[in-house]
Amino acid sequence: MRIGNGYDVHRLVENRKLILGGVEIPYEKGLLGHSDADVLVHAIMDALLGAAAYGDIGKLFPDTDPKFKNADSLQLLRYVADVLDVYGYKVVNIDSIIVCQQPKLKDYIPQMIKNIEEAARLPQNSVSVKATTEEGLGFTGAGEGIAAHAVCLLD
Ligand code: MG
Repeated sequence: MRIGNGYDVHRLVENRKLILGGVEIPYEKGLLGHSDADVLVHAIMDALLGAAAYGDIGKLFPDTDPKFKNADSLQLLRYVADVLDVYGYKVVNIDSIIVCQQPKLKDYIPQMIKNIEEAARLPQNSVSVKATTEEGLGFTGAGEGIAAHAVCLLD
């Protein structure tokens, strides 16, 4: 068994879509990034790659590469799942937390889980997504950005 840990942050700005776990969430701001800036999927990919000691998403999908401009992060997750397959790893489970003051994410979480399980080709109940605020503290509390943490276990 191998454990992996992933963390990511993106800045909230105007005139961008808010995409978390592959779900477009109605909100006045969205996350800034080279790809679709799906901070949750980025943290999950870094956990998976970390568990395999295969570097991080910056190594696999450099943000200097125009190919990844506005990339669908679920598509990148499919590729990470392929890499793990090649190395003979099986994902046991993924647990994750989105740290976000606004908007409320509860209603979107089931679809995020479904998207992530599908992209990573995992059975039901393999993926957990939770959301929390930081009680108004720090950059997430001020609504300047959204953070995500993820851990995973590989067999
Ligand atoms: Mg990122």
